[in-house]
Amino acid sequence: MLKVSNVSKSFNGVKILDNISLEVLDAKILGLAGPSGSGKSTLLRCIQKLETADSGSIEYNGKTGFMFQDFQLFPHMTVLQNLLYAPSIGGKNLKNRAISLLKDLGIEFKKHEYPRSLSGGQKQRVALARTLITDPDIILCDEPTSGLDVATTNDVVQLLKSVNVNTITMVIASHDLDFLTKISDTIVLLRNGQIVTNINPCDISDPIGYLKKYYK
Ligand code: ADP
Ligand code: MG
Repeated sequence: MLKVSNVSKSFNGVKILDNISLEVLDAKILGLAGPSGSGKSTLLRCIQKLETADSGSIEYNGKTGFMFQDFQLFPHMTVLQNLLYAPSIGGKNLKNRAISLLKDLGIEFKKHEYPRSLSGGQKQRVALARTLITDPDIILCDEPTSGLDVATTNDVVQLLKSVNVNTITMVIASHDLDFLTKISDTIVLLRNGQIVTNINPCDISDPIGYLKKYYK
């Protein structure tokens, strides 16, 4: 379980996260919605310890992996090199594991190509493989569908769900409410650094319409 308790964070005297508390059960997907600037990325970065919260606590078992917005693949490395560079563990089975992950994600045929020759959806798959090779218990995804078209976004939904089944806990920040309602078990909506609503999209007849009201 991931448990965030009373987390606050300010930048330059401005409160960006204001007493955030939430829980995600193992193997569940939490969607983080909210207008641009509401603090979604900052919350993910605090969970990943890329930022230090000013107060409150963040607890979980195991390790986290982060999928950055816009993929952040190393442009001068091939797909395979991008995967092999990431984990600090090393070991001679690493390459086999990398290739097997690329196969699972349907991208092995691109293993010797450079990121510039991949489509957005293919880059997303490589970024996911690069996160998975570190064997995370929790994956934090920041805007995983930014820049992807609708069809590719639907592929990403399938992809993340296939990874998640019975295994990995996920927290996914996105401005795309359609995507979030398709993928999330629970959605929390941030506004001005506070959680203003918390829904199970399956329990609501029009979850997107409901969430949109908070953007006005
Ligand atoms: P979101 O991901 O919901 O769009 P962010 O968490 O990126 O929101 O940003 C929330 C606010 O915090 C924004 O106003 C942003 O400018 C500010 N912010 C984020 N990171 C920093 C930082 N390192 N220094 C100063 N301000 C920051
Ligand atoms: Mg963001």
